Amino acid sequence: FSARELTDAHLARIESVEPKLNAFVTVTGDDARATADAVDEARAKGESLAPLAGVPVAVKDVVVTKGTQTTAGSKILEGWIPPYDATLVENLKEARLPILGKTNMDEFAMGSSTETSAYGNTHNPWDLDRIPGGSGGGSSAAIAGFEAPLAIGTDTGGSIRQPAAVTGTVGVKPTYGSVSRYGLIAMASSLDQAGPCTRTVEDAALLHEVIGGYDPKDSTSIKGGFGNFVEAARTKDIKGMRIGVIEELEGEGFDPLVKQRFEEALALLENAGAEIVRVSCPNFKYALGAYYLIMPSEASSNLAKFDGMRFGLRVVPEDHPTAEKVMAATRGQGFGAEVKRRILLGTYALSSGYYDAYYGSAQKVRTLVQRDFAAAFEKCDVLASPTAPTVAFRLGENTDNPLKMYLNDIATIPANLAGVPGLSLPSGLAEDSMPAGFQFLAPAMGDDRLYRAGGALEA
Ligand code: GLN
Repeated sequence: FSARELTDAHLARIESVEPKLNAFVTVTGDDARATADAVDEARAKGESLAPLAGVPVAVKDVVVTKGTQTTAGSKILEGWIPPYDATLVENLKEARLPILGKTNMDEFAMGSSTETSAYGNTHNPWDLDRIPGGSGGGSSAAIAGFEAPLAIGTDTGGSIRQPAAVTGTVGVKPTYGSVSRYGLIAMASSLDQAGPCTRTVEDAALLHEVIGGYDPKDSTSIKGGFGNFVEAARTKDIKGMRIGVIEELEGEGFDPLVKQRFEEALALLENAGAEIVRVSCPNFKYALGAYYLIMPSEASSNLAKFDGMRFGLRVVPEDHPTAEKVMAATRGQGFGAEVKRRILLGTYALSSGYYDAYYGSAQKVRTLVQRDFAAAFEKCDVLASPTAPTVAFRLGENTDNPLKMYLNDIATIPANLAGVPGLSLPSGLAEDSMPAGFQFLAPAMGDDRLYRAGGALEA
């Protein structure tokens, strides 16, 4: 295929299935075609190109793209055209991947179902009445629905891995600091990390190598040297690898068939020569509670910049508008219910007199979770669990029940609290013949282990 043929085929697919899936907020066909043509020309001239040059990619709409509307799924940013590219977008452009468009997501990445987007629900290609996961449901649905072969997601508490699990695709949250956050619209800065959404483990490794690396524009960026991801994904050999099963993430709340598919995958790994060990991470039971204090606290501070003055929407009330009134009216109309709930939670948790009781305690739990990981990784090379406790639920099923929605993240959140990398890949069909996910976790900067283990399980 020429890059142009590949790009045109995906744009045609987008045109035909978007009315059903709504995985994209914005499609940038002309830009994608121009990049593809440039790749074909360069190839004809015999220029050397990056391995993924000419392979189209979709980008979650929380990542800023110069000259292309970036909404973060929110009405408050409708029509906002960023004047610069996120570093990871610069990397994609430098490697010459045609960008197909911006994918739908929960508003400001808050959610597990893509239902809080101001731009309508995204539908799961496996069953259009079900959620595609969230917050990055658009990226994963685009992969599962063959609208894009590669996509970028962001993961603050599971938003790459859980959508991958419920759409039968692959998703990787890299080590915190290994992919630049410059140009991501921040939700919770100490947890956010961008990563690949793909159909295979090797594709994820290839895309990870394009977007990763040290960036002086991100103060938490770390210097790389994490090994060769693609080579690790191609090894397909896990003889002697010690895989730790997290006892706390095996039982309660997990659907029977999700658990069964997980056990079957473990048996395959054991047959392939891995050693399965049981590990306990006793503090993981507090992780969800700590996350829902830390994440809203950071978000309440990060979202203060949406004041009706600088970006996107501005609502000016008729009666003697003051700065406060413009701000209040803009936020009142521009933010959805979930975003308001989290700003309130975060503001409360950070308020004087409560800071130590809530935010302070949550930070202590975070340290305990990190210690659990450190102790577990003394006994094994990677950890494993089901990615999410259930298969994709029906649209609307959990919208009135935030607690149930939050519980979907139980297995993914510990990795964000500790900054360690995680990979989700399909484990087979579970309840209602819907896909379930298998998650590997590795120590910080051990992303190559995820690719080695994931590549072997996929094989
Ligand atoms: N579902 C989680 C939340 O609502 C995680 C979101 C994310 O990773 N962006 O916060």
